[in-house]
Amino acid sequence: MEIIIIGGGFAGLNLAKELLNEKGINVTLVDKNNYNFFAPLIYQVATAFLEPSSISYPFRKFFSGKKNLQFRLGKLLKVNPSENKIILNNGELKYDYLVFATGAETNYFGMENVKKNAIPMKTLNDAIVMRNTLLKNLEKAAICKDIRERRKLLTIVVAGGGPTGVEVSGMFAEMRKNILLKEYPELSTTASNIYLVDGANALLSPMSKASQEDTLEAITKLGVVVKLNTTVVDYVDDTVYFGNGETIQTKNLIWAAGVSAIVFEGIPAESYGRGKRMAVDAFNKVNGTENIYAIGDTCIQLTDTDFPSGHPQVAQVAIQQGLNLANNFKLLSQKKPLKPFKYNDKGSMAIIGKNKAVVDLPKPKMHFKGFFAWIIWLFIHLISLITYRNRVKTFFNWMIAYFAKDQSLRMIIRPDKKVKIEPKQL
Ligand SMILES: Cc1cc2nc3c(=O)[nH]c(=O)nc-3n(C[C@H](O)[C@H](O)[C@H](O)COP(=O)(O)OP(=O)(O)OC[C@H]3O[C@@H](n4cnc5c(N)ncnc54)[C@H](O)[C@@H]3O)c2cc1C
Repeated sequence: MEIIIIGGGFAGLNLAKELLNEKGINVTLVDKNNYNFFAPLIYQVATAFLEPSSISYPFRKFFSGKKNLQFRLGKLLKVNPSENKIILNNGELKYDYLVFATGAETNYFGMENVKKNAIPMKTLNDAIVMRNTLLKNLEKAAICKDIRERRKLLTIVVAGGGPTGVEVSGMFAEMRKNILLKEYPELSTTASNIYLVDGANALLSPMSKASQEDTLEAITKLGVVVKLNTTVVDYVDDTVYFGNGETIQTKNLIWAAGVSAIVFEGIPAESYGRGKRMAVDAFNKVNGTENIYAIGDTCIQLTDTDFPSGHPQVAQVAIQQGLNLANNFKLLSQKKPLKPFKYNDKGSMAIIGKNKAVVDLPKPKMHFKGFFAWIIWLFIHLISLITYRNRVKTFFNWMIAYFAKDQSLRMIIRPDKKVKIEPKQL
């Protein structure tokens, strides 16, 4: 049985790992990057608290010596279901079963200026671009004589009040308190403002009311200005325009306001559901196809009675769907009946700053905040990293940051403009 998995994130990698050494099953994992990365911590790379290698790992090193697992670097362009063939940017592959685990991409809700000018927060590349942009803007502010320009360079607007938006604005507020004036004495006379904006009437919308209120209180105390019921409608000439007519002048609009799945040529239009997600049955088979499956953020499944309008796009759903599908491939090869997917919700959490976090547990229904919640957050994120090496590196970096209230990773490292990597050649 030849299985091709497109995408080596939480869903795809867990599916592949679970099929290791399975007799009669050969797996090729295709990804447009040659590494897996841990999205929940990219904001710490973006704010220079972790280096990229702490939260990423090369696929080939991971698959080394694993006989029935192979890696192929390539970007999926289209599928030809009638010939069981996929077309990549650098070749073609044949499959018996195809699995989409392609995640989602940043959604700008059709706002071209926002897409062109804002800083997204989805990939490791985005995190490095953000780190460089923010550090360069601080350097520009340090020598800028024009007070209005300087304010724009120092103002940060974070759009999206989900965990990513809360976490990144909390981190900026702590950096402003502990690092900014120490390292940039030139900026002592200009205020730097951090805004967190969201179209909804609460932060962390899917979490409990207690978590939402605790988060609003904690982040406001850190000095972040929270604007709820406020939607970004445009971002042009260093000005963020909101639906209520207000504006903020800034050179730093961080976009953490939403994602949508990716549409691929060859998959019938009627197979897509809400948010461009592929509609799947209880076994994650894409509706209207014979041997094509989808797992994780890229799919929507309406068959789980506890989640009638689909699962949330979070890591646990992706991991559990990957593991369930692996089990079903094993059952399929033994001609046994397949097991439908049922999500086991283990709870949700968000970190706001040092010693400040919120945690909601579903069974029994519980809510924690403060230091205890912060320790749980650190522990869960640490053990979720892919290898021991990544866990040790991250733990070490966190200890330095905790005791020194600082890190020493604020280097602006950018590729030489002469070196051009053409994706088509990969
Ligand atoms: C900044 C951020 C913070 C988050 N924080 C949390 C959190 O705290 N807790 C939580 O539970 N969830 C969090 N999430 C959501 C979580 O990361 C996703 O739910 C999870 O990554 C989904 O897993 P996935 O395998 O479906 O997709 P992904 O992990 O996104 O993996 C998709 C993979 O597909 C590859 N790919 C995409 N298109 C192609 C193509 N055309 N060809 C080849 N390869 C392709 C990508 O390179 C990637 O490796 C966060 C997400 C972000 C962006």
